[in-house]
Amino acid sequence: SSRFAEVAQRPASAMEINLFELVSDTAPTEADLPEAIRTMRDQMAARAAFRELVIPVRLGGDQRWWALTGKPRFGSDGRFIGYRGVGADVTVVHRSRERLSYLARHDTLTGLANRAEFNDALATALALCGQQRVALICLDLDEFKAINDTYGHDVGDTVLRTVGQRMRGALRPQDIAARLGGDEFAIILDVADRQQAILVVQRIVNSLDAPFICGDLTIRVGVSVGVALAPDDGNDPDQLYRNADVALYRAKSSGRGAYWMFDVTMDCQVHDQRLLQRDLRDALPNGELFVVYQPIIDLSTRRIISLEALARWRHPRRGIVPPAEFIPIAEQSGQIAAIGGFVLAEAASLAARLPPHLRVAVNLSASQLRDDGLMLYVRDVLDRFSVRSQRIEFEITESVMLDNDSRALETLQALRTQGHRLTIDDFGTGYSSLSVLRSFAFDQLKIDRSFITDLDSDNSPIVRAVIDLARALGISVVAEGVETEQHASILQRYRCASAQGYYFSLPLTPAEALQVIGAVPDHGAANRVTLPATVLCDAGRQPMMTRVEVVQLSETPFRIM
Ligand code: C2E
Ligand code: CA
Ligand code: CA
Repeated sequence: SSRFAEVAQRPASAMEINLFELVSDTAPTEADLPEAIRTMRDQMAARAAFRELVIPVRLGGDQRWWALTGKPRFGSDGRFIGYRGVGADVTVVHRSRERLSYLARHDTLTGLANRAEFNDALATALALCGQQRVALICLDLDEFKAINDTYGHDVGDTVLRTVGQRMRGALRPQDIAARLGGDEFAIILDVADRQQAILVVQRIVNSLDAPFICGDLTIRVGVSVGVALAPDDGNDPDQLYRNADVALYRAKSSGRGAYWMFDVTMDCQVHDQRLLQRDLRDALPNGELFVVYQPIIDLSTRRIISLEALARWRHPRRGIVPPAEFIPIAEQSGQIAAIGGFVLAEAASLAARLPPHLRVAVNLSASQLRDDGLMLYVRDVLDRFSVRSQRIEFEITESVMLDNDSRALETLQALRTQGHRLTIDDFGTGYSSLSVLRSFAFDQLKIDRSFITDLDSDNSPIVRAVIDLARALGISVVAEGVETEQHASILQRYRCASAQGYYFSLPLTPAEALQVIGAVPDHGAANRVTLPATVLCDAGRQPMMTRVEVVQLSETPFRIM
């Protein structure tokens, strides 16, 4: 038709050609032929119909897209006459669809592949690798958060974009580079061996070494790299990715700016830590964290004066993970502010339900003390539960004070001014415990458990000296890790004011704590807190089961049903 001639940009006289020739004249070889054109040709050769084939056509230097539908026509004698059909120029629709699918598969900031595209590309590379090896390189910028925080997100974005460009520049066209999110990048390479992968990694690290110029700022960015090789280190995408990630984690923790190849002997602990760190991100939103409270007892009256809030994590597959395992991870990964905030809010909500003479003690990490938002948060939580600041005390481990961090000291001072009691925790474990006492006026010191464990005779000069020293300085003393009546009575003789430990009570759930507080202890030989039967089988305390035996052996055992 004349309309078709017009669209095809040819005189009507030049339209007497085969449809296939019309659309394929720019493809010199079979391999150059687009899939849809091949389909059309094959259908036509078989005298079969085709529908809505979207075919690329070059018209005078312009790339257009046609949707073609055709049906073979046969004469009354059954002879093939030709095709009859309709076509539409669908260039605009096609382009926007292409753009959409591009956007769905690329990171808009850097133009690199995104996670979806990366996952597909990795699966394809592994399926096709054959004799070749596939290297998976995971990269993570060091201290990128600081760049964002210090210079703002525009500068952060510029840095990420430049990192993407430099990375691309260090790669061959067929290599795939992706930004997986934040400051995480990944690369997929076909390589012959480990050595070749290392060369590429070195090239990338070198390319990122030059400073980044953003306006009049000059910024340096370090990068940590982990590499895993298929099929040696795994041949399914998940496993390979996990192993590259383990190597990356290793790189990060061995001082940043390093690269590590995964190897099978690599500490499985690293692996485990990494997995825990990932799971910890969901722990709070999934409600897996909870808080238990261990009573602190006045040694002369043997009554509870305070309860220490201790965080617990009920992991969906591992069961209870003790804080000694996940708190350090939370500190490293910046999640401690959220977790510490949760513990504080829980503690305040319990304090609100306890009689007013009881305090609740909350542990604070170094990074929480360096957090500008802490004071505001503390005030807000106390307001929310209408709890006076005097009822929330804070415990800070001795090691925090050794950094001599002025920010931390300011926060301590502010908490103090606000009316909170402050305890120096794990006293005696640092190298300069005495100078710590000089650097800040704490209300209380908590003698570390390790000293109490050894407290088996009546001559324990260190514990005695610490208690005497504290008295001279007007600081109250609490002993932690009291596991036997002998410990308790020795401490009492040394005039230690208070104590905490399995001998008196395991950490309790809030319900148990409230119950125990309600039950006034009797004044006989065992005027200790008696615990409900559920205490020992509660999952929150399982890691301490071995210690429970000690309690049972003590002269007046807990009531265990
Ligand atoms: P910590 O502050 O020294 O807490 C005392 C730890 O000793 C607790 O372990 C407690 O359950 C345990 N314990 C109590 N009595 C005895 C005893 O008689 N014998 C022995 N052997 N152990 C006893 P837990 O709950 O596993 O906590 C470990 C550490 O985790 C805590 O040590 C604290 O440093 C940290 N932590 C716990 N919760 C938090 C939190 O919410 N924030 C921060 N920053 N750290 C926390
Ligand atoms: Ca503590
Ligand atoms: Ca302690």
